[in-house]
Amino acid sequence: MDIKEFTRPELEAWLLERGEKPFRARQILKWIHQKGTTAFAAMTDLSASLRELLSQEFTIARLTASHVSPAADGTRKYLFTLADRRRIESVLIPAEDRLTLCISSQVGCAMGCRFCATAQVRPVRDLTAGEIVNQVWEVQQSLPPDRRLTNIVFMGMGEALANYEHVTKALSILTSEWGLNFSPRRVTVSTVGLAPQMRRLVEESPVNVTVSLTATTNQTRDDLMPINRRYPLEQLLDTCRNLPIAPRKRLTFAYTMLDGVNDSEEDSRRLVKLLHGLRAKVNLIPFNPFPGTPFRPTPRPRIERFRQGLLDHGVHATIRESRGQDVQGACGQLAAAYLETVPA
Ligand code: SF4
Repeated sequence: MDIKEFTRPELEAWLLERGEKPFRARQILKWIHQKGTTAFAAMTDLSASLRELLSQEFTIARLTASHVSPAADGTRKYLFTLADRRRIESVLIPAEDRLTLCISSQVGCAMGCRFCATAQVRPVRDLTAGEIVNQVWEVQQSLPPDRRLTNIVFMGMGEALANYEHVTKALSILTSEWGLNFSPRRVTVSTVGLAPQMRRLVEESPVNVTVSLTATTNQTRDDLMPINRRYPLEQLLDTCRNLPIAPRKRLTFAYTMLDGVNDSEEDSRRLVKLLHGLRAKVNLIPFNPFPGTPFRPTPRPRIERFRQGLLDHGVHATIRESRGQDVQGACGQLAAAYLETVPA
């Protein structure tokens, strides 16, 4: 078993059962997550017998980067092969003062959003906490020593909240001082709006949440995002209104702009009404077309008008720059291109 599947309390319990001091857990996990150690033998502040015991019981698993695609804008897409030969992807997105890694939470996705390339990848399985953490670990190791990842977003393959237990365990490893030690303010979980899990996540973890909205009527959202039939807009936004969001935080809504589908002035007005009473921020996402999609990106001037319509009514709105288009930058596209190599 990969030792990166373990939280500190779990490793402490394991050590106690074997007559070892529980504080060793912190030392071991710091070697792994902060020093990037790949061999138990290198953990020189542990006894030889404990190092031996660890190497008998655990591995320090690695993901194999089978394909790394650098884009002209600095975006880099990693295609990782898991132990069972399934494939997932992570995307490194550099900006002026940030180095963000977008990670996957599942192999494929069952949510079926029609504007998303991952929906074409047959859902295969949830990732374990270790596999989620390992994406961050591997990319960090691939960077020069003076470059650190600053932000983590769960916006790669999969619906993170459909894999709740593994994702929340991974969040704990990513944000703990014995783990990868990211500030929870720099970690964002994106969801299509699984209402009960959203509530639970906000209650249990201080990380940021982004809700993918992408339509202003149930009719359009039913068509674009099948989850809307289970949690229609009214119910989703009602849940959002009642989330225990910290006083100075805003809930982010992602809105993928699709030409002639959800980008009219009427949509902009309806969005203002839907978000009334919420401390919200809207992130307008230019659509990144993929092979076989029936959708086209909204022209930039219309995205800007849409944004202005929101700003004029006091709704905070930004346009996310589309990155990595030359590496098939929309989520799931690289893995979709390699789908034929995934074993049945
Ligand atoms: S947008 Fe997210 S939830 Fe929807 S199909 Fe794509 S990966 Fe799944």
